[in-house]
Amino acid sequence: MSVRRCLIARDLLTMAGPIASELRGNIGDVGREEALIGLVRDGAVCVEAGRVVWVGPAVTCPDGFGQPELFEVLMPAWVECHTHALFAGSRAPDFARRNAGLGYAEILEAGGGISSTVRQTREASDEALLASLIARLERFAAQGVGAVEVKTGYGLDYDEELRHLRIIREAARTLPQLRIVATCLAAHVVPPEYRERRADYVTMVCDRLLPEVARLGLAEQVDVFCDRGAFTVEESRAILTRAKALGFALRAHSEELAHTGGTLLAAELGARSADHLEHARQEDFAAMAAAGTAAVLLPLVTIHLDLPDRPKARALIAAGVEVALSTDYNPGSANGDDLALTVSLGCSMLKLTPAEALRGVTRVAAEVLGLADHGRIEVGAAAKFVAFDLPCWSDLPWHMGAAPGRLPLLG
Ligand SMILES: [Zn+2]
Repeated sequence: MSVRRCLIARDLLTMAGPIASELRGNIGDVGREEALIGLVRDGAVCVEAGRVVWVGPAVTCPDGFGQPELFEVLMPAWVECHTHALFAGSRAPDFARRNAGLGYAEILEAGGGISSTVRQTREASDEALLASLIARLERFAAQGVGAVEVKTGYGLDYDEELRHLRIIREAARTLPQLRIVATCLAAHVVPPEYRERRADYVTMVCDRLLPEVARLGLAEQVDVFCDRGAFTVEESRAILTRAKALGFALRAHSEELAHTGGTLLAAELGARSADHLEHARQEDFAAMAAAGTAAVLLPLVTIHLDLPDRPKARALIAAGVEVALSTDYNPGSANGDDLALTVSLGCSMLKLTPAEALRGVTRVAAEVLGLADHGRIEVGAAAKFVAFDLPCWSDLPWHMGAAPGRLPLLG
């Protein structure tokens, strides 16, 4: 959006409101909802050279931005803050086996599981990985997503993790309308060749891989999967502490499969977020709130795997934790990229209000990625929006999946 433009909307969602726990009023009250999304009725946004330069009521809109463009519902471009979008191969056989009643160990025995994605991704050429990643990212952009996180985690050795990070960088160069945040998730699972010598893998990540990723500037964040069957709290502590010293922002997958203490570790080290949290408890929520660590909740995983446990979203918000929503797009546990469906499930399964769910894919998700100029409409923000042809903004989560009349405006 390089020219001067003026966009006017009946419902302008600026997302400039305060954090949910600071608001008075009952959950779901209209006033509380509208404050959360920073609603401006009959609002206008003026943009110039790709940035927002003015926002406010349309009646006070300055001249000189051309003929106004009119929309029903206009909000910041969405932000997808947790994906494993760089992978090769199919896990459809696993999906069929699991639905036929096979357990995790039996699927592994049949040659499935995450190891099969690691094998197929390692075997894929740079060109094939880049092409599939770009196609997936373009699908996010078509939804009105303006920023996406992409994690590694299917390379799991020194050369492969670096190769995957370079491919993510190449995708970012190819898609300048998308702000892509690369995350090194070498601590996804212990790779097969290190199974009998886990400590050596952790040492390799800390002493060789992360310093090289930092030197080459290939990632902004480092993530760990701290859970039963993945990395222990002490292994995760070693990796995240080293990452922090190297200047990376920190993320964690924690308390998805069991309560192991990864969330307290994430809060202690000042991680941007702890993600999943199905088994997290009140003491974890308090630590997150005190540390300013956000929660990233991933309801597509729950339905893809048909899991009984859900994170306690209302308790998180009551404790003062900001809650983001994401698809967790990955071939194993959530082979889905529909962020609008995620918003709808955030309301129906997790009991977020429509305003909380929409904040969760805009402002809070942007904060999780450290992006101050995404996820809200204010002076200086990136001029990236998404419009909907709907009678009211709150119709959005009511509609399961892509809402009618969706129009990405990503410049
Ligand atoms: Zn994940």
